[in-house]
Amino acid sequence: MIPTSTDPSTVAEAAAILRAGRLCAFATETVYGLGADATNADAVLSIYETKGRPRFNPLIIHCADLAMAETVAEFSPFARKVAALWPASLTLVLPARPNNGLADVATAGLDTVAIRIPDHPIALDLIRAVGRPLAAPSANPSGRLSPTTADQVRQGFGGRVPVLDGGPCQAGVESTILRIQGERLVQLRAGAVAREEVERALGVEVAVAAGDAAIAAPGMLASHYAPNAQMRLNSGPREEEAYLAFGAAPQFAGIVRNLSPSGDLREAARNLFSMLHELDAMGVGTIAVAPIPDEGLGEAINDRLRRAAAPRG
Ligand code: AMP
Ligand code: MG
Repeated sequence: MIPTSTDPSTVAEAAAILRAGRLCAFATETVYGLGADATNADAVLSIYETKGRPRFNPLIIHCADLAMAETVAEFSPFARKVAALWPASLTLVLPARPNNGLADVATAGLDTVAIRIPDHPIALDLIRAVGRPLAAPSANPSGRLSPTTADQVRQGFGGRVPVLDGGPCQAGVESTILRIQGERLVQLRAGAVAREEVERALGVEVAVAAGDAAIAAPGMLASHYAPNAQMRLNSGPREEEAYLAFGAAPQFAGIVRNLSPSGDLREAARNLFSMLHELDAMGVGTIAVAPIPDEGLGEAINDRLRRAAAPRG
């Protein structure tokens, strides 16, 4: 029997679930989000497991107000002008603030972060009550339609995820994503707020990301996280290489980081981005990577490793 979860009946109950590192779906004005504390790597990894998402892509970080947003990203004066449109179905991609506390798996190890202040009173109350930014991709199993009612969320996940019901979503489509580059705006994803609406409100032109860049969210680009080192996957280490191990590692005299000595995929996912960055920062020529089982979170780990190893264009 599928264990069914009890839905929170108040914002405070939902906030308690999220603060405890568990998932809770909630209404926003776009679609229902599958919420997790964005500062808690385990909570964010549960999003991937629950959705059955086969790859790590950077998630939108939902904030309650500008003060919270400023703790995770750097705002230029121009960015502040654009942010004055919040709360809105508008996501802004900004430089991440160093040591912002966000889990690597929430931003896919990028040095930029996509942020939004949703235009929904219950969502805002919830984020405020949690007191931390929330990662919240659409609350549907991977590959299925985004839910716009609490019942659709319950059906999609077979009742396994608690839902804070906030009524049907007004917009019913995902947020518009804009990247801020200097004083320019580039639309990465069309969504609930029309480009022209932003142009009219700000008196600034909004360019459209060319061809593939628009569809190919950064998490999808083949070499999106490209280490300087060469990567050799599914193997043991050779002399002069650094080794990213998983499980029981072979004897090796060189530099080794172990994603999970006990062979736990969740622990490996938690360590993936930081260990890759760490080994790459040592300036080694090649990072050899142990085979990782292609099941559960292993699928997303392998996807990310293949992208890191892909030839760069
Ligand atoms: P969601 O699944 O609703 O959280 O939306 C995630 C999408 O936001 C990704 O697929 C990207 O298109 C976009 N996104 C998130 N972070 C970034 C970023 N740092 N740079 C560009 N786009 C981003
Ligand atoms: Mg979705």
